[in-house]
This record gives sequence, structure tokens and C-alpha cells, in this order.
Amino acid sequence: MLYLKYNLVMKKRISILGSTGSIGTQALEVIEKLSDKFEIISLSAGGNTDLLNKQIEKFHPKSVCVSSHPENVQGCKNVLFGSEGLEEICSNQENDIILVAVSGKIGLKPTITAIKNGIDIALANKETLVMAGDIVMKLAKDNNVNIVPVDSEHCAIHQCIKDISQVEKLIITASGGPFLNKTIEDMKSATVEQALAHPRWNMGRKITVDSATLMNKGLEIIEAHHLFNMPYDKIDVVVHPQSVVHSAIEYVDGSVIAQIGLPSMHIPIQYAICYPERYEGIKSKSFSFSEIARLDFQAPDFEKFPFLNLAYSAGRTGGTATVALNGADEEAVFAFLNGEIKLYDIYEIAEKIYSSHNVIKNPTIDEIFETDKEIREKTKELIHRSYQCLSI
Ligand code: NDP
Ligand code: MG
Repeated sequence: MLYLKYNLVMKKRISILGSTGSIGTQALEVIEKLSDKFEIISLSAGGNTDLLNKQIEKFHPKSVCVSSHPENVQGCKNVLFGSEGLEEICSNQENDIILVAVSGKIGLKPTITAIKNGIDIALANKETLVMAGDIVMKLAKDNNVNIVPVDSEHCAIHQCIKDISQVEKLIITASGGPFLNKTIEDMKSATVEQALAHPRWNMGRKITVDSATLMNKGLEIIEAHHLFNMPYDKIDVVVHPQSVVHSAIEYVDGSVIAQIGLPSMHIPIQYAICYPERYEGIKSKSFSFSEIARLDFQAPDFEKFPFLNLAYSAGRTGGTATVALNGADEEAVFAFLNGEIKLYDIYEIAEKIYSSHNVIKNPTIDEIFETDKEIREKTKELIHRSYQCLSI
């Protein structure tokens, strides 16, 4: 059986890519609680060496990787650097599992390397599947590697599914973000602070902006398609502001199974890294139906959140269409966070870049990276030519 590849008596050996981020730090909180179950092999950060140094002191990784200022790292003899460092971590077969919790396109290459080395993946980085879902899922199957989703909706679906062939559709819930009850005009004049004020989840800046435009839900539709091999017309989105129902599936016989829990990322992170085991771990309190006053559901407003349609369109087109949408969105989000463009410009820019892209149907990994690079250059150029300054 697949799961017997772990020696359950021994500690599970884990590395975390992005240990200083929102998911990474929460994963370390889980691991601290389950210190008899896990041994940390490697940690990786971007530039936050202060936090990384504290993590080194507490968790004693054998190696760490940073993308800047390696000279500031203290307490670990083996300091790796940049994308080559991430590759080295993911080639180390001492790892039983790697949590990929970097943000953006940086996650893709190391994930592929880990899979090729037969290492299981706890996947937070949705961009990996959005950019190269076909390739990544096939590689995982060929190498007998488990990819267990951390993203709360996909983690919920993973927990609900017994037999995928009997599933009629997936129902992904969306909190609706900070602009759920605001008008399009409110969104057009929104500040960075307003876009970052997510009502339910405390996350990294990029995903928080994507949650405000619902592009995050768009990426999640594509992520779900790849993870569960489900056609796009069988993936629905429903807005559920309380974020208690994390997602659901409907079986062919009409029975619906939903996964419910308090809105805390600790739970899906713990599920993914412990899979197939379950432990009490970091659970803070028991779920109480009577304490939840009400649960609301409504159809998403596709006019106010046009990214949803764009994501369905890119997903159905396939090939490099999703690479184009993802790259254009990410660059536009960075420009928004830098105060260069307005919130609604993100959609307009991504739509322009996406619709002018010549899709490669079955791209290789190299073609995916070339497309990504080209799209980002075009997006930056478009922002500088037509948006920047006009909007500020
Ligand atoms: P954060 O921005 O909080 O963290 C990103 C992590 O990646 C940090 O450790 C950061 O390091 C590191 N990093 C950034 N740039 C580089 C680089 N060039 N090289 C190496 N490491 C780098 O993001 P989140 O934790 O919010 O999200 C991580 C991923 O998980 C994303 O793909 C997101 O979509 C997904 N996700 C997140 C959820 C959440 O609740 N946060 C929920 C579901 C999915 P440093 O800080 O040191 O610069
Ligand atoms: Mg999610």
C-alpha cells in the first residue's frame, strides 16, 4: 500500500520551502506541537533572515536556503542560496515530505525536483498547478508521489472524496473577501490597505489581494481541476462569508459531503503534512454547531469579480493560457502593492495580456517558463506604458 512507504515508528522527515511566510510559520507551530512526529531537514526563506535565524535556533535544520543575504544567516553550517539551493533541498532523499509554501512561480521547479526524487508533497503553492498542472500531476503519478493539498478548499475536498469516479461535482466555497458587500465603484477606489483587510484569513500579501479580486478563487478552480482531474463544468463556486464550510462535493446520487471546521489554516496544514495519519496536534477547541449562529451561501457576482470567468476560460483553454493569466495577474498585483496601479486595473491588465497570448497547447516545462518570462515582461511594459502615473 502507498502509505507504508513511511516508517510510522520513525519521525517523518520534512523540509519547508517558505518557512518564514504565513503558511510556513503556521506549519512550524504545528510541528512544534508534534515534535515527536517530525524532524526538520531543511528550511528556506526569502529575505527574512531574522525570523529564519530564530527558526534555526528552535528547530535545528541540517540546511537552510535564502534568496538574499546569506551572510546574515546564523546557527546553521549549511547555508544554500537561491533557486539552486531550493533544488538541492528538493533533491535530498532524506526528506519524506516537502511543504511547498513559497508564493508565486518560485514553487514550480523545486516541486518537480522533489517529485522526481520520490518525495511526497504538501502543496500550498497553487501557482505550481496553475502553471503546470498536467505535467506535475502526471509526474506525481509516475513517481508514486502523494500531493496533498494545503489550500483549505482543496484540503476539504481531499477529505470528502472516497471514490473520485462517483463524484458529480466539486463545490468550492469563497469567503467573498473584503469587497463582498461593496460596489464596483468602491473597489475601483480601494486602497492597498482596504484590499489587504481580509475579513477571515490572515495570509501573505499576494494571495490576500487575489482574494479581494476573487482571482484567488479563479486560481483555485484551476488547482481543483488538476488535483482531482475534474472537468471545469463540474467545478462550482459558492460564496460563503463565514468560511466554516471549507468546500464540498456532490456524489452522482445527489448526496453532498462538506468539510466543516473553524477557519484556521493550522488544520489543513496539519492534515497535509500528517497525511494519512491524524493527530490532536494544534487543535485549539472543539467545533460547536450551536456556537455558529448561521451559515450563508450565495452565488458569486461574476460582473463584480470578472476574474472568475477569466479563470474558467483560461482553464478550459488549457496549455499556456493559465500560465499567461497567472503571470499577468502576479505582476499586476505586485504593481498594485507598489502603489503603481489601482485594484481594478489588475483585472484589466491581466485580461489584455491573457487575450493577446498565443496559447501553446501541450507545453514543455521550458516552454512554460519561457511563456511566463515573456508574459511578465509584456505585463510590466503594459503597466509602464499605459497605466503607471495615470492611476496614481
Ligand atoms: P507569504 O508571502 O506569507 O510567504 C511566502 C514565503 O516565500 C516566505 O517564506 C518568503 O520568504 C518566501 N519567498 C518569497 N520570495 C522568495 C524567493 N524569491 N525565493 C525563496 N523564497 C521566497 O505567502 P503565504 O504563506 O501566504 O502563501 C504561500 C503560498 O501558499 C502561496 O502560493 C499561496 O497562494 C498559498 N496559500 C496560502 C494560504 C494562506 O493562508 N496564507 C492559503 C492557501 C494557499 P521571506 O518572507 O523570508 O521573504
Ligand atoms: Mg484557499
